[in-house]
Amino acid sequence: MKAHDGMYIGGAWVPAAGDAGTIEVVNPADEQVIGHVPAGTAEDVDAAVRAARAAFPAWAATPPAERAARIAALRDALAARKDEIAGTVTAELGAPPALAQNVHVGLPIAVAGTYADLAASYAFEEKVGNSTVLLEPVGVVGAITPWNYPLHQIVAKVAPALAAGCTVVLKPAEDTPLTAQLFAEAAHDAGLPAGVFNLVTGLGPVAGQALAEHDGVDLVSFTGSTAVGRKIGAIAGAAVKRVALELGGKSASVILPSADLAKAVNVGIANVMSNSGQTCSAWTRMLVHRDRYDEAVALAAQAVEKYVPGERVGPLVNAKQQERVRGYIEQGVAEGARIVAGGPDVPLDKGFYVRPTVFADVTPGMAIAQEEIFGPVVSILRYEDEEDALRIANGTVYGLAGAVWAGDEAEAVAFARRMETGQVDINGGRFNPLAPFGGYKQSGVGRELGAHGLTEYLQTKSLQF
Ligand code: NAD
Repeated sequence: MKAHDGMYIGGAWVPAAGDAGTIEVVNPADEQVIGHVPAGTAEDVDAAVRAARAAFPAWAATPPAERAARIAALRDALAARKDEIAGTVTAELGAPPALAQNVHVGLPIAVAGTYADLAASYAFEEKVGNSTVLLEPVGVVGAITPWNYPLHQIVAKVAPALAAGCTVVLKPAEDTPLTAQLFAEAAHDAGLPAGVFNLVTGLGPVAGQALAEHDGVDLVSFTGSTAVGRKIGAIAGAAVKRVALELGGKSASVILPSADLAKAVNVGIANVMSNSGQTCSAWTRMLVHRDRYDEAVALAAQAVEKYVPGERVGPLVNAKQQERVRGYIEQGVAEGARIVAGGPDVPLDKGFYVRPTVFADVTPGMAIAQEEIFGPVVSILRYEDEEDALRIANGTVYGLAGAVWAGDEAEAVAFARRMETGQVDINGGRFNPLAPFGGYKQSGVGRELGAHGLTEYLQTKSLQF
C-alpha cells in the first residue's frame, strides 16, 4: 500500500511542519499495519487554510461552467482510480470487495457527477421583485470526515463546496487517510488550481480541532459522532461561523400490519449488515406489530445466517469499535433482551469482527434501543397499534433516516409524514443521490447531496434596483 509521507497543500505534497510523528494505518481484517501518514498539527492546518484563502478569490470568480468542467474531471480522475480506491477501502476499512466497488467507490463517483451537472445548471442569481439576489460562495470550508464511508463523505462535502466556488481544507478520519490521499491525487490530476483543495491528515483533537477553530475558516462541515459534533457546533457558535453537522442515528424500520413481512425483514436485515452496521442511517430498530412479532423474529434469525463474518460481513474499523459494539451486545443481554442470533463472543481469531446479532424482546427504553451502536446489531421491538409504533419510532434523540412498510403506498406515506426524521424509504425505495440527506433533532444541522447540499455552501447578497 502506497502512502504519501506529506500532506497536499497549495497544489503540492509537502512534509509536515512540525515533528508530531505519524499515524499508523491498520487493516482491520488481519490487524496488519499497511501504511503511515503524517500526524498534522495546527501549523499544517494554518498553512493549508492560508493556501485555501489565497486561492479563494480566483476560484469564486471562475465561471460556474469552468468549475463544472473541473468537477467533471475530478469525477473522471476518481473513476480512473476505481480499482485502486476500492482496494484501499477494503484494506483500511475492511469492506468486502463488492461493497467497496459498488458503494464505496461507485456512489461517490455518481455524486461527483451530480455536482458537475449542478455547477453547470444551477441559477447562482435570482430575481425577487425589485432585487437581484446573488448566491455567492461562503468562503473557505473546513471539512472533517469519518471513516465509515471514507470516499463518499469526502465527495459529499468537497464536490458541492467546489461547485459553489468555495475552497476546502479536508481533515479525514485517522483510520482511513489513504483513501483521502487518493482523492487528493485525483483532485490534482483534475487540474484544480493550487490551493482550491488541501488535505491535512492528523488526529481529531489536534488537526481537526485546529481546523474548526481557525479564523480563516468560514464554514465547518463535520460528519461523525454526536459528542464531537456538539464540540464543533460550540466552537462555530462562539466564532459566529457557519456549521453543518451530520451526526448519528438510531433509525426505525416500521413494519405496518399490512406489509409484506418477509420482504421488510430481509431488506431490513440487509440494510443493517451492509458495511458491518457502520452506517449512520442504518435501520437498527425494527418495529413489528404484536400479532406478527414472533414470525418477524424467526424470519430475522433466518435472514442473518447469510451474513458470515469474513465473507459477506467485514470487520469493524478498529479494536475500539469492536469492543464498543461487543459491550452494547453484553448490555442488551444484561437489560433483559433476548439474543436470537449472534452474541458478544468474537467470531474469528484475527480481525476486529463482531457476530451479526439480532435481539428480540427489546423495549424502547433499553440502551440498545436508544444509542447508536454502529455495528451489525438489530433490535426488534413490539408495538401495540399505529400510535404506539409512532411513539417508539420518534422516541429517541435522533432523527436521521427510517423506513415504512405497508401493503399500500399511501398508508406508508401517511405514517412517514408523522416521523421526525430526515429521510424515509417507502417499501424499500432506492437511495437517491440527488435527494437531501441529513437529520432532524440531534442527528444534525444542514443537508448534504443534490441542490440542497449545494446551498449549504452559498450565501445570499441582494441588490435592490
Ligand atoms: P469521531 O466523531 O470521533 O470522528 C469523526 C471525525 O472527527 C474524524 O475525522 C476525527 O478525527 C474528527 N475529530 C475527533 N475529535 C475531534 C475534535 N475534538 N475536533 C475536531 N475533529 C475531531 O467519530 P469516531 O470516534 O471515529 O466514531 C465514534 C462513533 O461516532 C461511532 O461509534 C459512531 O457512533 C459515530 N459515527 C458516526 C458517523 C456518522 O456518519 N454519523 C460516522 C462515524 C462515526
